[in-house]
Amino acid sequence: MTLAKGIHFLQSKRAKTLSLAEVFRMSESEAETAFRKIRWAETEGQPVCPECGGLEPYEFRRPTGLLRFRCKACARNFSITSGTLFASHKAPLRAYLAAIAVFMNEVKGKNALALSRDLGMSHKACWVLLHKVREAMAEEFRGRKIGGKNKVAEVDGAYFGGYVKPANIKEHRIDRRYLANQSGKRKSVVIVRERNGNSLPAVFASEGAALSWIKSRVEAGTLVNADDASGWNNLASKYEMKRINHSEAYSKDGACTNQAESYFSRLRRAEMGHHHHVAGPYLLRYAQESAWREDARRTDNGAQVRRVTELALKSKPSVDFSGYYQRHRA
Ligand SMILES: [Zn+2]
Repeated sequence: MTLAKGIHFLQSKRAKTLSLAEVFRMSESEAETAFRKIRWAETEGQPVCPECGGLEPYEFRRPTGLLRFRCKACARNFSITSGTLFASHKAPLRAYLAAIAVFMNEVKGKNALALSRDLGMSHKACWVLLHKVREAMAEEFRGRKIGGKNKVAEVDGAYFGGYVKPANIKEHRIDRRYLANQSGKRKSVVIVRERNGNSLPAVFASEGAALSWIKSRVEAGTLVNADDASGWNNLASKYEMKRINHSEAYSKDGACTNQAESYFSRLRRAEMGHHHHVAGPYLLRYAQESAWREDARRTDNGAQVRRVTELALKSKPSVDFSGYYQRHRA
């Protein structure tokens, strides 16, 4: 890539191929066409029945205006998003496209409350939508292997979640370093990053619990960089290792974990700046989102929106949020 001197990729024209203004200038039928071309790429946007593979269905609109198809072969009704992560969507597809564009244009993360103000949608609808987008991103990591012969990877871990607020009165305060005084929600996010390659995040109760996972996902022959924490020593039984003592230097004799650090910096900023608390069942999703953003940091925003939409339309209905509204109608 050649860029004018002094211009960062993100400041260049090439990084900006889709603007929110463009999405808002689209009609709903243009947004539908965009989704159809992504979902049914092999038929250039012509709908294919998800049940029997039948082509050329009847087209009609619900009274709400939502576009539906009826298969001529099996008489099943379906929509552009049937059987995908965005199944039974309530909002127009243009709003989905806008939501994804807004989400991708933030480099650290996007809070659902802010998105609901941007788009005039309910907080709950935005919260579920953003989690579905994270679930789509997570597909990218399914079965992913890192490294191999002559490849270099970095491994590191950091704790997230389980914040215990200190009591107001000093005498009431507890020592939060003791396990008994913690909330039990504190978890270790472990990242494996291949230099000039992909990332793979996971969440464990402790860094030590990550060892067998690392060995199953990082190929033999990889040169593994880690800090000098004793928890990683065990990895030397499978990999050649380079260790860096951060109290001496951040990078020494080719050993460093700077890319892993930069991942944690992004995740930490997403936590502090956007979400305030990332813990419990969603921590993995936030960890995957930040890893996805790291890997795509030099991809233009239009391509990022396309890729996330493609992942969502290739994924089955949400495991995290199927029937979320029905279950939570308080
Ligand atoms: Zn059919």
